[in-house]
Amino acid sequence: MELKFIGTGSIDAFQSSASYLIDKEILIDIPNGSVKKIKQLGENILNIKVIMITHLHGDHFADIPFFMFEKYFKKDKNETKIYCPRGTHDKVKQLFEVIFPEDYDKLIQEINIKFIEFDELKNQELLNNIYVDSIKVEHGNCKPAYGYVIKQGEKSIGFSGDSKMCEAIEHIVSKSNISVLDMSTEIGNDAHMGINNIEEICKEHTEKKIIATHIHDRTREIAKSKNISNLIIPDDGQTINI
Ligand SMILES: [Zn+2]
Repeated sequence: MELKFIGTGSIDAFQSSASYLIDKEILIDIPNGSVKKIKQLGENILNIKVIMITHLHGDHFADIPFFMFEKYFKKDKNETKIYCPRGTHDKVKQLFEVIFPEDYDKLIQEINIKFIEFDELKNQELLNNIYVDSIKVEHGNCKPAYGYVIKQGEKSIGFSGDSKMCEAIEHIVSKSNISVLDMSTEIGNDAHMGINNIEEICKEHTEKKIIATHIHDRTREIAKSKNISNLIIPDDGQTINI
């Protein structure tokens, strides 16, 4: 599987808000600015067949209207499925009402986009031979918040979404060859993991590769200086093959 980092930053970071493209077709989260960023990185928005939303914060789903406009302007009739927490579709309609009143009805008739709101995904086939499990994580007052494990044959990539250190993170790391984990802050809090949590995970799982993302600028510098051997701190646009 090819994993491309569209964004690796937290809301106020220099690098774009965190989102990831798998095999050019599956997008994990679609934050503010990600549609333009995907294009700037040389990828084709219209290749995206599946979008997985981890939770309903703007830096994880706010570009859905812009994705819909992209399909509309390009007259793209191919289906895109959006797997998302309950209530997402309503929130997207509300977002349209505020930022592009009257456009939602026009767009939804002309493009092929399907909102699949779920409580749990177990071995759900996303594309040919690519499956997903959802895992509920703990992200402050934002409920539900999901992590995902994406699987293809023997290969698997875990995604924490935004989460504090909790049992679900242990589960994601243990089920995945490589895990993409929230490392927003220096010290973990009720909503996000910190360098201290990621360092601990890396020590406990020396056989696994851990990728830190959703990072504040200062956190990035401090974490890099620690030179943790099984920790990757990617920049926007970087690609890793798994
Ligand atoms: Zn969040």
